[in-house]
Amino acid sequence: MVDIVSRSAWGTRAPRSRQTVGWGSRSEVKLHYSAGPESRTPRQIQDHHMDGNGWADIGYNLLVDSDGTAYEGRGWTVVGAHAAPRNVAGIGICYIGRDGMTPAAKRTVVELYDMACAKASRTLARRGHRDINSTSCPGTANYQWWKSAAFRAAGGTAEGSDPLIGLKKGDTGEPVKALQELVKFAGHGAALGPTGVDGIYGDGTTEGLRLAREDAGSAAKKG
Ligand SMILES: [Zn+2]
Repeated sequence: MVDIVSRSAWGTRAPRSRQTVGWGSRSEVKLHYSAGPESRTPRQIQDHHMDGNGWADIGYNLLVDSDGTAYEGRGWTVVGAHAAPRNVAGIGICYIGRDGMTPAAKRTVVELYDMACAKASRTLARRGHRDINSTSCPGTANYQWWKSAAFRAAGGTAEGSDPLIGLKKGDTGEPVKALQELVKFAGHGAALGPTGVDGIYGDGTTEGLRLAREDAGSAAKKG
C-alpha cells in the first residue's frame, strides 16, 4: 500500500467548505494532469484553485508527483472540483506534470486505484477528464495508458513482483482476486486451498499460477 502524504504534512490551507460522499456513490476514478512543471507543489495548486478559481479547496481528491509520491487532496470521500457534473461519482487523481507520466507515477496511480476499489468493494471505472469535459486533460499518452487493458504493466512492476502480472506474494485485494479467478478458470482452483478466491496472495496462489503456466507452456509446445 502506498503511503499518502497527509494534508497537514504538505501545509494545506483550511477548506472554505466541505461536502462528503459515501463509497456507495463512487463509481469511477478519473485521471487528470496539472499540465505544468513537475516541480509544482500541492500547496501551489491549492493556492491557484482557491485564489485563482475561487474554489473551496484544492480541486482534486489525490495528487501524484513524478517521483511517485502520493498526496492527499480533498481526500477519498470529499466531493472534489475537477470534472463536473461527475464529482460525486468520481475520485479525481491529478498527475503533477505534463503528458508522459513517469513509471513511478503510474505505479502509484495504480496503487491508489486498487485502494479505491478495495474501499468501494468493487471495480471502479477508469476514466480520464476528457471523457467528461471538453479538455486535453490528462494528456493523450497518459489517457491511452490509463484506458489500456495493460495499464498495470505499463508502469513497470514493483520490486519482487511477477514481471508479467505485477503482483507478488503478500499482495491483497481485487487484482489478487482476479488472478485467483484465472487460476481457478485454468483448472487449478484446488491449489488455492480451502480459502479459495480470498484476495490474499499466499503460497496457494503461487502454486496455482505455476501449474497454470506449466499447462500454458506445454500447450504452446504442442501448438
Ligand atoms: Zn483535468
